[in-house]
Amino acid sequence: MSAMPNLSAELSTVVVVGSGIAGASAAQTLRSEGFRGRVVLIGDEPALPYRRPTVSKDFLSGATAAEKTTLKPDSFWEEREIELITGATAVGLDTGRKRLTLSSGETLQFSALLLATGGKARRLDGVSGANVFTLRSMADADSLRASIRRTGSLLVIGGGLIGCEVAATARSLGAEVTVLERDPSLLSRIVPPEVSTMIASLHAENDVDVCTDVALSSLDVSDDGSARAVADDGRSWDAGTVLVSVGTVPEVTLAVAAGLRVHNGITVDGQFRTSADGVYAAGDAANIPGARDDERYRSEHWNGAQAQGIAAAQSILGKPTPFTDVPWGWSNQYGHTVQFAGATRFDDDYVIRGSIADRDFTAVAVREGTPVGVIAVGRPKDLRTVRTMIARGGAVDRAALADESVALTDVLAGEREGRVAAAR
Ligand SMILES: Cc1cc2nc3c(=O)[nH]c(=O)nc-3n(C[C@H](O)[C@H](O)[C@H](O)COP(=O)(O)OP(=O)(O)OC[C@H]3O[C@@H](n4cnc5c(N)ncnc54)[C@H](O)[C@@H]3O)c2cc1C
Repeated sequence: MSAMPNLSAELSTVVVVGSGIAGASAAQTLRSEGFRGRVVLIGDEPALPYRRPTVSKDFLSGATAAEKTTLKPDSFWEEREIELITGATAVGLDTGRKRLTLSSGETLQFSALLLATGGKARRLDGVSGANVFTLRSMADADSLRASIRRTGSLLVIGGGLIGCEVAATARSLGAEVTVLERDPSLLSRIVPPEVSTMIASLHAENDVDVCTDVALSSLDVSDDGSARAVADDGRSWDAGTVLVSVGTVPEVTLAVAAGLRVHNGITVDGQFRTSADGVYAAGDAANIPGARDDERYRSEHWNGAQAQGIAAAQSILGKPTPFTDVPWGWSNQYGHTVQFAGATRFDDDYVIRGSIADRDFTAVAVREGTPVGVIAVGRPKDLRTVRTMIARGGAVDRAALADESVALTDVLAGEREGRVAAAR
């Protein structure tokens, strides 16, 4: 443990709302940084903090049991005297009196509060029914798995990361799977068309029917639970189970009710401070400053939420460090791991190393000569190196970047030494 920081006498109790990776990492960091006051970690889910990414993958398939998804055993929290309260919802926040109210009626006085309330699945108006699901939690996955097994067919509305992963997992459960995507291609906002095509081919090889350009006009659920989706152009699809997977929205109910500044997430500064004194936010719920002055973003990735939770705890303890994390995430589909970092858009200018068709590539998004994002399949080392390039900023030698005979670490070293070919 590091030396006890010089804490303000007022910092006696830190309450963390949300026991996902951001909240759990924050609570853990408070202790590892030497804070000896009271730490309370509140989560509305019944389970111990767990690895949410498994919810669309091995936990949904049933390959990994619930107890194998936990971040830490019960004893971990006890030994560190972190008061973990599961199955409790924080329903009221009085920022002036620094008081939090739980659904049980219990109130907690805090000196600092971290809102790590995460996100929730976006819903489609008017789309509901017995076999219509969204997916965020292990409980959601239990219900979805049971329905897929019972009905044998799944219609996924939304061809984003989670929709694609669930399609792959449902195939492993033996279901017939159809994916309906509103845009012309899968993952269309974050990957270039060539990568979309590669991912679509993976699904086609695994007998998933991917339908794009689908403007859904209705989804009717009959009494027996089976559903029929109809598109504007007359196409229709029938399925026993429906997953609505059309994005994530930040969980800001408590923050809004408390009058905090909220705009696509709880607005925080570079030290994770919200608009209320002593109240911080981190993870999927937070809208944080980006690398450039005019940029703000909300991470929806596991590692980003973890890094933010750690940094927020350090800030609470009066030891803020500049937050320069380049967010990154991954997706597993049919045994292939797609990794991505930074900010990628479908219409970015990409420099490709390797072969997208062979599913072995690194695609670096370059804007105004500078790497801003990366997508990689089967190349975790490349991803790490390009993340460093993105964090560092500055121009890149495009020809060297595309040249497989030049190691990416050498490209990075060249940039560090200012060896960008002037003509390029
Ligand atoms: C199905 C799925 C698959 C994913 N797969 C990947 C992946 O492969 N790779 C990747 O990088 N990222 C993945 N992600 C994203 C990643 O899981 C999230 O970015 C990360 O979990 C965010 O962590 P968090 O702690 O900010 O929020 P969350 O994990 O959402 O945790 C917030 C917690 O706070 C609780 N809470 C909310 N409000 C209250 C309240 N008022 N009182 C008490 N508790 C409250 C919530 O119920 C939740 O338990 C996936 C997400 C999902 C849903």
